[in-house]
Amino acid sequence: MDLIAKMQDLNHEQVVFCSEPSSGYVGIIAIHDTTLGPALGGTRFWNYASTEEATIDALRLSRGMTYKAAVAGLDLGGGKSVIIGDNRRTDREALFRAHGRAVETLGGRYITAEDVGTSPSDMTYVRFETEHVTGLTGLSGDPSPVTAHGVYMGMKAAAKKHWGTDDLSSRTVLLQGCGNVGHWLAKYLHDLEGAKLIVTDVDEGKVRSVVDATGATSVAPDDIYSQEGDIFAPCALGAILNDDTIPLLKVGVIAGGANNQLAEERHGDELYRLGKTYAPDYVINSGGLINVYGEIHRWSPDRAKTKAGEIYYTMLKIYQISGRDGIPSYQAAGRLAVERVQAVRGLKSMWLPRGCP
Ligand code: NAD
Repeated sequence: MDLIAKMQDLNHEQVVFCSEPSSGYVGIIAIHDTTLGPALGGTRFWNYASTEEATIDALRLSRGMTYKAAVAGLDLGGGKSVIIGDNRRTDREALFRAHGRAVETLGGRYITAEDVGTSPSDMTYVRFETEHVTGLTGLSGDPSPVTAHGVYMGMKAAAKKHWGTDDLSSRTVLLQGCGNVGHWLAKYLHDLEGAKLIVTDVDEGKVRSVVDATGATSVAPDDIYSQEGDIFAPCALGAILNDDTIPLLKVGVIAGGANNQLAEERHGDELYRLGKTYAPDYVINSGGLINVYGEIHRWSPDRAKTKAGEIYYTMLKIYQISGRDGIPSYQAAGRLAVERVQAVRGLKSMWLPRGCP
């Protein structure tokens, strides 16, 4: 792979390869774009098959973070880091302190957090070496209530676009996944809207707890797609909007918290062609990022929740761009992100005295 060509292709600013032999640490830190602010994105710990696979993952994920922060209206850029290795490893202190030192060398251009294969306790080790880490134990805590609130508000915006009203009291929502985000979303939909819920999960205990709390009806995991209803809310798996599932959907709106819902971009085109209203995943689930941003700025949980509620207006803006330019919503979200970054990039020509914040 020609790394420089790949960086230029995806418009990355900086990629740093790091190694600390005594701890067995090998990491890659990718900074995509810092126009809006320091690059924030978690650390993924994964047994990549090759350096190339790890690098491409870091490049792809960091670029996604630029878009996510941009549409969330935060003064953050996009970054991501990966540590190559077995994430079940139990001796973690030296490894994560080595990572913390690598993050520290960037002087705040990159802020890390937990991601797949890492936990808040790993971030405690990172914190021993650098201040540029968030998502720490005992601070902002579980992001799921804030994420679910953003998903709930984004769902209301999608309903408004589709039916002309954001009132969900007469809607039936098909909820896939009753985990951290799913159970909070079910609670908001039941308590605040009185929506009818049809739910599923591979874990029967989690289904039971949502059914007990909300009076939802439960169905087997494979049956959720074909249920009669208005809104499908994926809150479990990625790539669940695909060639097999889209033909089964009878709903008009798809709005849920799961990451990477479209198996491929062409599935976003297909939903658009079918006249279904899709809520782009990285927009509607950006409450998780807003929660860690709130930790950096010492926000109260209520302030983070209020900010996540603004996802409602962001979604409406995305549907407006979709209508304006005649493009699917997933493309409109990308356009909104690029327009914001470009608008702020223009300001950088204004000279500031040294030391100005
Ligand atoms: P979770 O692990 O708590 O919940 C996921 C649930 O999905 C689990 O209960 C699991 O049993 C269930 N599940 C797995 N396979 C399934 C299947 N085939 N059918 C039905 N259910 C299945 O995770 P979470 O924190 O609730 O996150 C859910 C999704 O939202 C993930 O894609 C995650 O990346 C994304 N997300 C979460 C947050 C957050 O704040 N937690 C923020 C942004 C995005």
